[in-house]
Amino acid sequence: MCRSPVSPPHHDSDHVNDGSVQAIVYILTSGRRRIPAHAKILAAASPVLESVIDRLRSSEKTIPILGVPCEAVEVFLRFIYSNRCSEEEMEKFGIHLLALSHVYLIPQLKRRCTKALIGRLAIENVVDALQLARLCDAPDLYLKCMKLISTSFKAVEETEGWGFLQDNDPYLELEILKFIDDAELRRKRTRKHLQEQSLYFQLSEAMDCLHHICTEGCTSVGPFDKEPSKIRTPCSKYSTCEGLQHSIKHFAICKKRVNGGCVRCKRMWQLFKLHSSICESPDTTCRVPLCKQFKMKGQQVKNKKEEARWGLLVGKVVAAKAISSLSLPKREHEQPMSLRDAMNNHVSVAC
Ligand SMILES: [Zn+2]
Ligand SMILES: [Zn+2]
Ligand SMILES: [Zn+2]
Repeated sequence: MCRSPVSPPHHDSDHVNDGSVQAIVYILTSGRRRIPAHAKILAAASPVLESVIDRLRSSEKTIPILGVPCEAVEVFLRFIYSNRCSEEEMEKFGIHLLALSHVYLIPQLKRRCTKALIGRLAIENVVDALQLARLCDAPDLYLKCMKLISTSFKAVEETEGWGFLQDNDPYLELEILKFIDDAELRRKRTRKHLQEQSLYFQLSEAMDCLHHICTEGCTSVGPFDKEPSKIRTPCSKYSTCEGLQHSIKHFAICKKRVNGGCVRCKRMWQLFKLHSSICESPDTTCRVPLCKQFKMKGQQVKNKKEEARWGLLVGKVVAAKAISSLSLPKREHEQPMSLRDAMNNHVSVAC
């Protein structure tokens, strides 16, 4: 049985739109109930109700709100009076209240309903909620529904709601499938971005390591004027140190390098060149091989496109170096690239 949302008004005014605070109208519900309410309060809460009330003739005092359960209308009116609504009511009538808040333009109720419906989203109700979000122009709810459908599509496909949607709303089905495609594309882009970030951090560390080997010297390689280290255990400073030292030693003696036929030497060449591109030491003091030569050549790259790619790589490595030096946490990477892949993917400069 429907009751009045507040204490029922005691007396009626003959004129609904006479400006009287006490003017009463009756909300007619689907259960043929007539719930009395103050015209002024309804008009203040909803521009739509205000316009309906303005158009009421003085003999007419009824505003029909049909199509939703009587109790939902009661909760709706109570919200208009008190700006409040219990969790239990929201759970029971959230869908209807969202529709009412949309139709009668009551944004605070719409926000409340959207939040509550988002909190109750589940595989079983997500398709219905999406349709409602679309009808009621509730973008937050719409997006949450799309995301849930996109991440749990297999399960959603099994629901009754999905079957109904396929039979009755092919446009929405298409919209969902397109969203899923776009989401997959976004995920791929994010993965690629993380892999690239990983690459720049690895190159930045390789640059630090190269500097460390060529200035301090490490287990088997060091500057010519420094005695090799007596310690023979693997370097603990950089994970790449051992490998880089082997590559430097190989670079120094490789016969194929001269004709550009050695892939290992090409990579080492690129690392020396990358060092030179980011090196800030004066030519006379830097001890990294070829640094001075690369700088003197002005790092000529004949190909403009290649030059642009190289510049981009240098910029990214410099940024990664700056981030590392600030000791910001490095990002987790799903599939870190090897240094070799990193260089191969980015540049191809002949020896
Ligand atoms: Zn080392
Ligand atoms: Zn070689
Ligand atoms: Zn240098």
